[in-house]
Amino acid sequence: MATGFVWHELYAWHNTWNWAQVFPPSLTIQPGEHAENPETKRRFRNLLEVSGLLDQLSIIKPRYATVEEIARFHDRDYIARIKAESDANGGDASVLTPFGKGSYEIALLSTGGTMEAFDAVITGKVRNAYALVRPPGHHAIAAYGMGFCLFANVVLAIMHARATHKVGRVATVDWDVHHGNGTQAGFYSDPTTLTISLHQDNLFPPDSGGLAERGEGAGVGYNLNVPLPPGCGDGAYVAAFERVVLPALYRFRPELIVVPSGFDASGADPLGRMMVSSEGYRKMTRLLMKAADDLCGGRLVMSHEGGYSAMYVPYCGLAVMEELSGIRTHVEDPWAPLMANWGQMEAQPHQLAAIDQASKLVESIR
Ligand code: ZN
Repeated sequence: MATGFVWHELYAWHNTWNWAQVFPPSLTIQPGEHAENPETKRRFRNLLEVSGLLDQLSIIKPRYATVEEIARFHDRDYIARIKAESDANGGDASVLTPFGKGSYEIALLSTGGTMEAFDAVITGKVRNAYALVRPPGHHAIAAYGMGFCLFANVVLAIMHARATHKVGRVATVDWDVHHGNGTQAGFYSDPTTLTISLHQDNLFPPDSGGLAERGEGAGVGYNLNVPLPPGCGDGAYVAAFERVVLPALYRFRPELIVVPSGFDASGADPLGRMMVSSEGYRKMTRLLMKAADDLCGGRLVMSHEGGYSAMYVPYCGLAVMEELSGIRTHVEDPWAPLMANWGQMEAQPHQLAAIDQASKLVESIR
């Protein structure tokens, strides 16, 4: 069965203005380009085309999510504010999240694209799927967006899957270098959603994503943060999967595995300080596919989040898509020979110590 893929040109038209990376220009900050600009995503899609893989994927058309669907998680006055500002000349969802005219509709299309990817996987139209959507979603909370995210794509798609397809237990594995605080918040008291986030310790949001954030009420134990020291390479990430993520998934036994997928843990990213290579993302995908095969009929869906190296994100994305589809293309990662030779790509003792702290939390999952 095929691998599904979501993309729409409008995703690249979401305007984040002339910020200087993550700061608005001022009399002391020269205007530039916002870190979350279209280029990484567009080049990812374009490399799929050039590699020939795009022709072998099952193209899934996105749709616009409805206000009722967005209001399952977000406050109605927040939704109305984004619409009003978008209809005018744009605004800011709150922290670091500028947007332009029409971004409201594009955000609805982003959430709807993730929902369509879920539908295709759940109904068995495709084996697995990747929604290359924009704007991203994993930092958005009920009352406001933040960290370049307007609406919480993955939270809303899980809620949609439950409302439409009666899906029960869902696990999320967020490998974006930043904490998936919005996904955590969406299901913090829900024991039927296991939310796991691997991230660089206390990178963004500030003071978010610690080991002590484990859920509340009936959900205690079903939020699992794996804060990692800066400098983790493929070895540490694979170790985190083997010691934390996979044991947690096998205990939890989800019906669907979801990846909020950021490529900003890569060794070329300007906003993260990790060293994951395309080969590392390939290995993590392979491990998740094995878990999905063992636990939930292979049902695995990914929704795009961060990743800010326009040069490198496409090669990480291609590796994931090759693995999901089982089709190896002729395209080689030009960084691979250099990155594979970097020092400390293998797991280091202090990294394993941090991972083992998180592994102790797995046993509370039933
Ligand atoms: Zn990120």
